[in-house]
This record gives sequence, structure tokens and C-alpha cells, in this order.
Amino acid sequence: MKDRELSRRHFIGAVSAVSAGIAASGLSPVLGGVTDTKDKLAILGGNPVRKDKQWPRWPYMDEKIVASVEKTVRSRAWCRIEGGANTVASFEKEWAAMLNAKHCVATGAGTQALNTCVEALGIGPGDEVITSPYTDMGTIASILVSRALPVMVDIDRESFQLDPKIVAKRINSNTKAIMPIHIMGQPCDMDSIMALAKKHNLYVIEDACQAHLGEFRGKKLGTIGHAGCFSHQSSKTVSCGEGGSIVGNDDDLMDRCYTVQNHGTSRRGKHETIGSKYRMNELEGAILIAQLVNAKEQWKRRNENAAYLTSKLKNCPGVVPQKLYDGTDSGSFYLYTMGYRKEHFNNVDRSVFLKALAAEGVALSPYIKNGLHKESWIDHILGLKEYRTMYSPARLKQYREELDCPVCDRICGEEMLMLWASGPLLGNQSDMDDVVNAIMKIYENREQLTKIK
Ligand SMILES: *Cc1c(COP(=O)(O)O)cnc(C)c1O
Repeated sequence: MKDRELSRRHFIGAVSAVSAGIAASGLSPVLGGVTDTKDKLAILGGNPVRKDKQWPRWPYMDEKIVASVEKTVRSRAWCRIEGGANTVASFEKEWAAMLNAKHCVATGAGTQALNTCVEALGIGPGDEVITSPYTDMGTIASILVSRALPVMVDIDRESFQLDPKIVAKRINSNTKAIMPIHIMGQPCDMDSIMALAKKHNLYVIEDACQAHLGEFRGKKLGTIGHAGCFSHQSSKTVSCGEGGSIVGNDDDLMDRCYTVQNHGTSRRGKHETIGSKYRMNELEGAILIAQLVNAKEQWKRRNENAAYLTSKLKNCPGVVPQKLYDGTDSGSFYLYTMGYRKEHFNNVDRSVFLKALAAEGVALSPYIKNGLHKESWIDHILGLKEYRTMYSPARLKQYREELDCPVCDRICGEEMLMLWASGPLLGNQSDMDDVVNAIMKIYENREQLTKIK
């Protein structure tokens, strides 16, 4: 504990000779230009660590994006089959190349991309897909839309990812696929998941909706399983408002994905199968091709900033940055997340810590309020004729009993600390120092936390 008490001073010394000098002279240290910190928390009337500064905004926008959209609007070719500038087809080609994938099929949303894969793999009523409850509803919706059963397993407390040990226990004769989520943009335990899938002959649909350009054992996320899906919704790190994409290397599967998202109509113009109409439009494509110009640079910057934050936050035992698995070459950092450990903050609840931190000028979010195993869609589907017909009463009873996900509940209710990363992690070092200094200030002055009402 003693060296940890000293940790912020070490940090200050490492980043700023000026503040180290002041600290050595016995005066108040200077943190990111703000004096007077070993002292009053801002929420109790002290000076905030961060003041009058903006985070880089997201979605990213520049004149090239405006020009790309304008050109497409003026062309009047707004739909991908009209043979204009072919922005959607260009995006598919370029995005596949950036990920080292053989094919890409764009869709109108990440949810649509996932559902297209579910349909194209022939997964439907009576089938089960194993996934995590700690995700966007789009993951679950993509399975429900095909009237298959989303089986949710608990997550790992340190990585927030699907726990493969529990996945193994939930596999049965109806299981057709695993849909792992690279939550926050960081790779989940793909070694274990791919090994399980191989052993039980299951498909793997990667939900890489948060994980653009992240990499695991030399492969881009989304290209490890049978297919991978991305979201290009506004908040995501490659965005166009609403959009999605599927990537994969299997010629036949990816051809079927095209057919499914094109209301069952193949590239050959034949009406072959069941599918909704999920096509991306040319205006979305126009934004995306212009977004890709900076995507790699931005991804690199977020990774550098995340590494910096993680290295500095090691000095604070009360916040534990998301665990990355062996084999992680890079993350994607859609979100930068940590686990809150209240025993290091005078036992105050996360909500008090968040309030104090926001007053210091750094707002973190608790992120997902409830795991999706706690929401009312479950009662809804268990009452539906399709589910009551396609799954035995014994299976549906067991399904309900196995919805228990205590780790997920704890992460949602007590531990998650999330920093939006799409924009903020494009900031400069002084922005990152603000995050660290605000957290460290609260840690060092934790005895004051009990005074907060
Ligand atoms: C955003 C997201 C989705 C859904 O993508 P949309 O484009 O919003 O449909 C699915 N899964 C995860 C993990 C997401 O973050």
C-alpha cells in the first residue's frame, strides 16, 4: 500500500519535470496545469482537474466526407444497384482489403449484418446460438429475428468477455453456433472459442460490431470465425449513421450473405431464398469510403492512448483496466473500460466515485445498466407459439433456470467504468493525463468520499 500511496507522485515525476520540481520543493504538485490537488475534491468545493476543455468529437467529419456525400447526392444514384459511383461496392472492396478478408457484404446496420449471417448459415427455429448477455440488444435481436434461441452465458470479471468455460457447459444437440462479442472492441478468448467450435462442429459468427481493425494472433477481428460482423452506427469507430458489414473468406457463405440481405435475390438475379432487404445505400457508402481514409491512423492513436492510460492506471489499485487475452496484437478501443474496486475507495459505491470524478471534469459512464438476461424480451419469447412449438417444455424451463449470470450482474451494477473512446481517445497526452490525474486525485483523497451525499 505504501508504494501505491506514492504512485501519483511517480507519475507526475515521469510526465512533467516542472511538477516533479514543485513536488520536491514541498509545494502542491501541478497536474495538467491545475494546482491544489492533494486536497479538496472538486465535488466538495476544490478545483477540478479538467476545466474548459473539449474532447475530440465523434463521429469524425471533414470536408472530404462532405464532398463525397455531395457528389453522390448530385449523381442521383442513391441505391447500390443503380450503377453510379458505386460507393457501397467500393467500400466493400476497401474494407475487405483493410481486414485482409476475401469478401465483404455491406448492410444497413450491424444487427442486419449479424442476422444475415444467422439466416445464411441456415440457423432458425429449434436452433440455439450461444452468446453473452453483456452486449448491445442488436446481438440478441439478430438471433431472435430468425426465431432461434439466444443462449446467454456469463462473462469473465476481468475481461468482460464471454466465458468459454461456461460456453462449453451450454452446448447441446440443438446448438448451431457461437456468437462471441469482442466487447469494448478488444478480442475475446478466441483460442478457446475456436477450439470449442471445432470440437462440436459449430459455426462462429464474430460480433465485431465494436472491434474495427482490432487484431488477434495476426488476424483482424471478424476474420477468425466463419464470418464477422461490424456496425457502422454513428458511435462506432468507422461510422456512417446507420450501417453494417459482414466479412469472411468462404466464397459460398459470403455469396449467400449477399443473397439474404438482398431480399433473397442472388447476384445472378434469381429469387432464391428467404431474406429481408438490408441493403446499404450509396449515401452511407459515400460517408464510409471517406471515413476509411483516416480509420487506420485513428485506430493507432486510440491504441497508443489506451496503452498510455493503462500504464499510468497501474498505480491505482481501485481501477482495473479491461484484461486483454494472450494473443491480442491490438485492440480497437471503441470504449476504454475499467473495473471499479470499491475496497480501494473507502468502500463507497461506484455512483459516488462517478459523481466525484464527473466533478473533476472527467465523466465516465457505468455503461450497460442490465445484462440482457434481465430484460422482458425473455418473457415475451417464452410465451410465443413459435418458441413453445419448436423447443420442448423441459428445454424452455431449463433455459429460464440457466439465465443466472452473477458476474454480469456485478459488472453492470457495481463495477463497470467506461470512457467513450471513439472521440476521446483521439485526444492528446494532456487529455489522457486529465483522466489519470482525476482518478488518482480521488484515490489519494478517498477519505473525503464518505462526505459526499
Ligand atoms: C452496435 C452493436 C451492435 C448492433 O449494431 P447496429 O449497427 O446498431 O445494429 C451489435 N453488437 C454490438 C456489440 C454492438 O456494439
